[in-house]
Amino acid sequence: AQSRLSGRLLSTTSLTRNKAVAAAQTLPESDWNHFISRETKKAQTDAAAPVFTLAVKDNIATVGHGLPTTCGSAMLEGYQSPFEATIVTQLRDRGGLVVGKTNLDEFGMGSHSLFSHSGPVQSPKAGESVSVGGSSGGSAVAVRLGDADVALGTDTGGSVRLPAAYGGVVGFKPSYGMLSRFGVVPYANSLDTVGLLAREVEPIRRLIVGRPNSERSEDKGLWSLSDSSRDPTSLTMTTRLRIAGQRSGYYGGESGKTDLSGLTIGIPLEYNIKELDPRIRTAWIAAAERLRALGAKLAAVSLPSTRHALSAYYVLAPAEAASNLARYDGVRYGGLRRSEDGVANNEGDGVSTSGDEAVLYERVRGAGLGPEVQQRILLGAYALSSDARDNYFVQAQRVRRIIVRDFDAVFLLANPLRDHGSLEGAYDNPDAGVHDHIDLSDLPEDVPLLDKRGPARVDFLLCPTAPTPAPKLADVAAAPSHVDAYINDVFTVPASMAGLPAISIPMPPVGAGEAFCPGFQLIGQFWDDARLLAVAETVM
Ligand code: GLN
Repeated sequence: AQSRLSGRLLSTTSLTRNKAVAAAQTLPESDWNHFISRETKKAQTDAAAPVFTLAVKDNIATVGHGLPTTCGSAMLEGYQSPFEATIVTQLRDRGGLVVGKTNLDEFGMGSHSLFSHSGPVQSPKAGESVSVGGSSGGSAVAVRLGDADVALGTDTGGSVRLPAAYGGVVGFKPSYGMLSRFGVVPYANSLDTVGLLAREVEPIRRLIVGRPNSERSEDKGLWSLSDSSRDPTSLTMTTRLRIAGQRSGYYGGESGKTDLSGLTIGIPLEYNIKELDPRIRTAWIAAAERLRALGAKLAAVSLPSTRHALSAYYVLAPAEAASNLARYDGVRYGGLRRSEDGVANNEGDGVSTSGDEAVLYERVRGAGLGPEVQQRILLGAYALSSDARDNYFVQAQRVRRIIVRDFDAVFLLANPLRDHGSLEGAYDNPDAGVHDHIDLSDLPEDVPLLDKRGPARVDFLLCPTAPTPAPKLADVAAAPSHVDAYINDVFTVPASMAGLPAISIPMPPVGAGEAFCPGFQLIGQFWDDARLLAVAETVM
């Protein structure tokens, strides 16, 4: 395992046809369970298109070639989707060759890829059982090992960025509504995004931005493709064009590398929590210095709502999940379960042969859904119940709006969904803002209260992706409750709540190499994805 790993991390992805076809044919049997199913037939490729190997998270619909879509759930064991997700079609049009479906936490719920009906994703790090992160853990391992050049994941609250950070690869969560969710099994609709993982930023940036000067439709960047007729949360073409018009002049064009001078990078002080591993804190300072050395200015910023984001997320996401997962009732989905368990299946094809739907529902869901998923459904149903709604669900929605305002108060660019006319952001949250100066040499262990704040002027934010390096599985298992695992999402959830683009890139401190390779997040204003990717590519 070790020898397969060495040197892979920073090697460039070469998008050549031969390499990809060879990879598809010779994919080795893996010991690490990061694939749930594999492409068995040699895929047809369009000779004109460049080819790259593509792994697809198993909550994204694929058709044919023995690639079921199971979401890591017993409920959907063997489930064959009748259609393909738009994003998979779009990537195949761009030369993507699907090599398999990757393992995940059931329905995307989890942070360590342990809660899967297909078994936990194992770390490829020899001799150590550490978390691969989740829920797109299989996708991160697949790109890390070179089984795929690019992998699709989903990111609701960090599921692409966390496994990317733990695995030393790149994980990109685009602005909410950019990539089509048609064919992506919903977890929490208002937060769900499709994300991309790769060993480098470059292939991801190319797919998102495309080749703006080319006429060929397969050269169009994914960010310019609306799918609003099939995914109502996909930004309409009109809105995409309006934002592009407002922001013209802000994109670096086709080239990835960008000049960082003139950019201001914000260091959000509230991310400097006491649980932050001291090694990560030191590496964060080193990463900031690296950006400064490349010409960027640094500024300390305050996002006071950060401390409430995690709890609000764990109210909203389960609430949406509880309603989404109601469809797994043994009738619409889960029929296989029903017959396997001998529930109400011996009197023909009737929906409710025993006359007792509740019994069918309980039996099918009790057997078909794992304990973490059941816990989320119960949490969510409670948060939505008439007694609890005002105290939980409504409050969490309020926190969510304040999170958006905090971000808007520090970003130089306006949020195009809130502020239609202007290019520059409105400075409208007096508690959030950019501080006068920053002294990184003594980033203290708790948030300093500097009150002198100026107007918004930050281009991107830089913060750790996770508060600690990948934890040992023994420590994850020893945690007193499942809820303790939720702390891993503390830094990824705020951008999800605000729908902002965020990318996790590996940034080892100078000299640390692969031995200690934490992931850092760059977060941008809504729809500033192209610049974000260019900056990430320059820095990495
Ligand atoms: N760990 C978070 C959760 O379990 C995020 C999951 C995700 O982004 N799909 O909800």
